[in-house]
Amino acid sequence: MEDLKKLRILSRLAVFERDGHMDLEKCIYMASTPKGSVPILKVMQTTMCDKNCIYCTFRRDRDETPRLYVSPDNLAKGFMELYRRGAVKGLFLSSGIFGNPEFTMEKMIDTVKILRERYAFKGYIHLKLMPGASVQTVEEAVRVADRVSINLETSKEERLKRIAKGKSILNDMLPKIELVDKLIKNHKGKSQITQMMVGVGEEKDEEIIKAVHFLNRRYRLSRVYFSAFFPIPGTPLENKPPEDPRREHRLYQVDFLIRHYGFSLEDFQKILLNGNLPLDKDPKEAWALANLDLFPVELNRADYYTLIRIPGIGETTAREIMARRRLKKLTTPEDLRGIRNLRKILNYITLDGKYYGKGSRAMS
Ligand code: SF4
Repeated sequence: MEDLKKLRILSRLAVFERDGHMDLEKCIYMASTPKGSVPILKVMQTTMCDKNCIYCTFRRDRDETPRLYVSPDNLAKGFMELYRRGAVKGLFLSSGIFGNPEFTMEKMIDTVKILRERYAFKGYIHLKLMPGASVQTVEEAVRVADRVSINLETSKEERLKRIAKGKSILNDMLPKIELVDKLIKNHKGKSQITQMMVGVGEEKDEEIIKAVHFLNRRYRLSRVYFSAFFPIPGTPLENKPPEDPRREHRLYQVDFLIRHYGFSLEDFQKILLNGNLPLDKDPKEAWALANLDLFPVELNRADYYTLIRIPGIGETTAREIMARRRLKKLTTPEDLRGIRNLRKILNYITLDGKYYGKGSRAMS
């Protein structure tokens, strides 16, 4: 099979066969990287895999998956063709595990080295680390790539064992995240991320939030990605219903609120229903509704961190409000003209002691 065709199929498979037909260009996605948002080609070195993770397209026992391999030489060449045409600016290289993790990673690292050395490619490269790879190989991967990732997939060892036999959070993945953390410590521009699936086991949001909180506190992870489960035909989970994508979105929101808005794990305990976040409500608004004794907040006196806890107010709006009130006391909604989400915000604030939100005479 001609190489570009192989690369097209490997790239299509790298996005988990969501579409029946896909051009290589359609496998290019905009990735948020330390160098900004750039078009990235996501591709597999091979779709062969010796492991049998029950949720995965590439599991050993799935007959429908075309098994392909592109040599480092040819993958680097195919990528450079796209790069020279200006279609991509970076590469996300993943792979099934063929032979053993060491051998697989060697091929992936060879691909990157060819790009760096033969083609002098200085752009963004993200390498997925294979479970079971050695310390030396991880060090080499961190040396040649801008970003590496180790997908934890789930938050508990026993859960991982049920869905991905042979992988271990405690004996392999966490020590690797720790190692990468040390390696990138003094390297500006290098980063690591991880991914957790949502809805593949019986894990609750509470468990996921706690795990993410632990990871964020302990390591320099640029991001924890969440991926809502969807069933792949021909796998043991093919009849399991897909996870509601809103669950993924709610987890991103909570993670953001904890990392940037000063919310704590405890803040969200009150809004969990059987351990899960409400799907129909933004978590900040759900938190506010569960803590109505803290509202309304007087907008002229609230500090920055109180402002960003008000539903509808983000960092930019909080700064805008602070700038406006430096000029004059805010006394009516007219003083907030042009502020986004104003109707929502008015339900949680007073202006010079007066409430203009839902149910107030001023709004009727
Ligand atoms: S090791 Fe990776 S590619 Fe292989 S079956 Fe598991 S998740 Fe899929």
